[in-house]
Amino acid sequence: MPSCVINEKCDGCKGQDKTACMYICPNNLMKLDKERSRAYNQEPEQCWECYSCVKICPQQAIEVRAYADIVPMGGAVVPLRGSDSIMWTIKFRNGNVKRFKFPIRTTAEGSVDPYAGKPTTDIANIGKPGFYTHTGPLPTING
Ligand code: SF4
Ligand code: SF4
Repeated sequence: MPSCVINEKCDGCKGQDKTACMYICPNNLMKLDKERSRAYNQEPEQCWECYSCVKICPQQAIEVRAYADIVPMGGAVVPLRGSDSIMWTIKFRNGNVKRFKFPIRTTAEGSVDPYAGKPTTDIANIGKPGFYTHTGPLPTING
């Protein structure tokens, strides 16, 4: 089921123009109601339940309710993201709670240089086939 914002917990990311959930949603679904300072999913039927907004929300204000055949009514799956790990809290409907902590990275945050070892972009090649990072002969299309 689509994401839903818990109004009591959302603080509108403290009035920033682009909230964390707006930044992360791959489908551009989250919107900030500036008058209420609360975010909401503007097109729930387009949500593919990827959990990105749930994980990034600093207030734990977003829920994706799982379907009843996976998480029975009354149960919940709640992530809490840290800089190097994520804690999943599983609440069973009989009241039991279990927590699982998983590492999410092997390098220090911000230490990866995505362009390291790649050739410098040459904008003059923008109209040519191939990718600017491609080295060696260009692939050919048969047929
Ligand atoms: S990321 Fe969380 S706190 Fe920030 S606007 Fe979205 S729901 Fe609200
Ligand atoms: S669960 Fe994924 S697709 Fe749905 S609103 Fe959140 S980030 Fe967007």
